[in-house]
Amino acid sequence: MLAGYPFSDGWRRLDSFTIIDKKTGKEIDLISDLPAGYTALFNPFCEERNGEAIVEHKGCLVENDIATIHGIIILLHEIGHAIDFERCEKKEERDKWEDMTFENIRTDEDFEFCVSKERNASAYMLKKIKPLIRSGVISKEDILYCIHGTIAGRDNSLWIKIKNRIGDMLDVYF
Ligand SMILES: [Zn+2]
Repeated sequence: MLAGYPFSDGWRRLDSFTIIDKKTGKEIDLISDLPAGYTALFNPFCEERNGEAIVEHKGCLVENDIATIHGIIILLHEIGHAIDFERCEKKEERDKWEDMTFENIRTDEDFEFCVSKERNASAYMLKKIKPLIRSGVISKEDILYCIHGTIAGRDNSLWIKIKNRIGDMLDVYF
């Protein structure tokens, strides 16, 4: 499904994904902003509150069922990461973006870089789901539950710090 990327069983490709905001009747195409060449994939057998943007393989992965509010939030957050990466034009920028992950935060500067990545991805997601927030379909709790929720299992204190730095963005919407 992604050239050269090893997948376990159960992954499905999302070729289209449109939902209708019941209150306004408006259609929302959830994968319309997927950068060129990218594939969105999900695994309904996973129940992780997590996803991944594998930019070197041009994939946005949702480790959850897509037909849930949480799956939608995760998908849009990962598309936000892919958009953010594709905006990096210089090789150094791209290398730094790829290298800097939660697993290898060493300095305050690393931490700030990861926070900015998370904020950019979440800013995209929030803008896209704004109509669903306005309609009351998606709650603040849904969003806080999803944004890389499983990181909590790895390093709770780090994740709480990052969540605190994203929380203020939610205040604009709720
Ligand atoms: Zn993220």
